[in-house]
Amino acid sequence: MLVDIVPVGSVSAEVKRAASTALRSVYDCEVSITDSQSIPSGAYDDGRNQYSAEAFIQLAERAGRGEKNIAITPHDLFYRRRNYVFGLAYLDGSGSVVSTYRLQTSSDGGFSNKSAADIFQDRVRKEIVHEIGHTYGLEHCDNNRCVMNFSPTVREVDIKEENLCGSCQRLIS
Ligand SMILES: [Zn+2]
Ligand SMILES: [Zn+2]
Repeated sequence: MLVDIVPVGSVSAEVKRAASTALRSVYDCEVSITDSQSIPSGAYDDGRNQYSAEAFIQLAERAGRGEKNIAITPHDLFYRRRNYVFGLAYLDGSGSVVSTYRLQTSSDGGFSNKSAADIFQDRVRKEIVHEIGHTYGLEHCDNNRCVMNFSPTVREVDIKEENLCGSCQRLIS
């Protein structure tokens, strides 16, 4: 299984590295990274001042060479009526996307023993593992420590772990 990371816009080397390490460790897959892509035309909504997550998924499917392809972008994404999304994927699809835009914000979760940079990287890893989980057919999990738990705020992202819980793990193996 090859997962291809498709950077869209200016994505730092640290973010790319965090994403590929997390994917390798959780899914035991191969990971490659494409050249940086420009923002898909028509993705920007000037009423919302945000970008369509679905347009980024389609770009990941076009530009990626993997069985699974995940776009990573610093731009703020929306999906339907939700004010923002950290990422989006279709169940059992081949494309997905994660935005780092809102993962930089501080949380009141009290993780003062970690640097802001470490907390940010942890969030990136979790959201990447989460979206790829959907492409493997995993739905949201009630276990708030499981990476497949629905986490609409960074606080919930910080609480969950980078790994699949036992039940989710069994569903994909
Ligand atoms: Zn989800
Ligand atoms: Zn789970």
